[in-house]
Amino acid sequence: MSGASGAIDLSTLTAAHIREGIASGQFSAREVLDAAQTRIVEVDERVHAFLQLTPELAEEAAGAVDAAVASAHQAGLDPRDTLGPLAGVPVGLKDNMNIVGTNTTAGAKILENHVSVYDCTAARRLLDAGAVLVGKCNLDEFAFGSSTENSAFGPTRNPWDLERVPGGSSGGSAASVSAGEVVISLGSDTGGSIRQPGALTGTVALKPTYGRVSRYGIVAFGSSLDQIGPFGKTVEDCAMALQAIAGPDPMDATSAVEPVPDYVAAVGQAAAGGVKGLRVGVVTDLLEVEGLAGEVRSLVERAASVFGELGAQVGEVELPSAEHGLSAYYIIGPAEASSNLARFDGIRYGYRAHNPADVLDLYMRSRAEGFGPETIRRVMLGTYALSAGYYDAYYGQAQKARTLIKRDFSAAFERFDVLLTPTTPTTAFKIGEKSDDPLGMYLSDYYTIPVNLAGNCAISVPAGLGSDTGLPVGLQIIGDYFAEETVLRAAAAFEAAVEFDSRPRIRG
Ligand code: GLN
Repeated sequence: MSGASGAIDLSTLTAAHIREGIASGQFSAREVLDAAQTRIVEVDERVHAFLQLTPELAEEAAGAVDAAVASAHQAGLDPRDTLGPLAGVPVGLKDNMNIVGTNTTAGAKILENHVSVYDCTAARRLLDAGAVLVGKCNLDEFAFGSSTENSAFGPTRNPWDLERVPGGSSGGSAASVSAGEVVISLGSDTGGSIRQPGALTGTVALKPTYGRVSRYGIVAFGSSLDQIGPFGKTVEDCAMALQAIAGPDPMDATSAVEPVPDYVAAVGQAAAGGVKGLRVGVVTDLLEVEGLAGEVRSLVERAASVFGELGAQVGEVELPSAEHGLSAYYIIGPAEASSNLARFDGIRYGYRAHNPADVLDLYMRSRAEGFGPETIRRVMLGTYALSAGYYDAYYGQAQKARTLIKRDFSAAFERFDVLLTPTTPTTAFKIGEKSDDPLGMYLSDYYTIPVNLAGNCAISVPAGLGSDTGLPVGLQIIGDYFAEETVLRAAAAFEAAVEFDSRPRIRG
């Protein structure tokens, strides 16, 4: 809360606190923005959550909120009744989301100077709800990675330990919330890229059902997998953000027309003891996976007992096809990426090679010079998997595995409302530890990827600090298609029971 000196500490304020503080005149949106900017000056040289700050957009947005408070008073109205649901809340956006007035680099050198010419729907909806865009957050190049080390603009560091990665690919978005630089951020999750960094930074991180949120205006990676979702310090903050961004969009034919429920109310029900009788399935075969750290396993087991104590009906379930998730994903993801990235040819977008001999040389050199090593690896993998003669053996086979994973989930959701797994096999690893070991890096997405392949929803919520590393561990709560309400309610009940302190002490 705001102290006697008037200093605002964002690490202790939720979106709802901020809106209420502004509506009641306790502080102004301008002061909240100052607090965010001060915190960024204090820590971001070390954390490097941001690629770009957007002070002009931020000042304009904060000014508009303060003006709305003044005009509500003038009209004899209570600003609580007139302000947008996220009024004055400082936010960050993963830099693969276009917003006019910003550069959108996707963490790639090839897009270094790319200026957005239109808005990403989800991002625009967040800002239209009154949120104040403070800056664009770092990511692995084109969202390829699990550590943010693949960014062409240098890695982001984990606020819990600056020698460690924040996860990825939405590492900047996760770190910006974890470090108290913003209150909410948006990331994108194609194969775990919201939930995995959420787990490693002790933040709450939600991947909505495929189609729940429009993908329009995001730099496309895997179009059958990509989904935008929020990070927050609390489940309620994620619910508020989802409320703002969810719903159909005429610009994205895959966005779902399913009605948008009241997610914030679902979180409120949790507070009223709302998980009594909820059927919670612990995915036991995924607790036997080699490479799962003991400290992670024991916190997930403890989480299951917490649900039991809260009155849920806890049982056991298996997802036998989940073990094929990684291999299927590393065919389907790169296959889709290789076609989505065909547009970066040195002509239509971004970086262009100098003095080309001819047009083929221009294409080839612009891509070879503009793409980083992981991007090149993905394009090669994907092109190979789709090439004549190999299509059935790789892509066709991967699609079959995808179907089996979907079936496992539907069978499990006949018996359970939500499923519990670890979000990641280990806590945050050291910067550099896995950068020469792509397979080791890919393994950190073991638990998150099956959900992208099936297309349902899941949240990562802090389960505690690991007993060996002292670093945050994430619990993944998986729900059926469009069951975000249930997932949020379960996560909120769990959050209240474990009382995790989400504030890291930035050291180093
Ligand atoms: N880490 C995974 C990958 O590198 C997932 C990325 C993502 O979800 N954007 O593909």
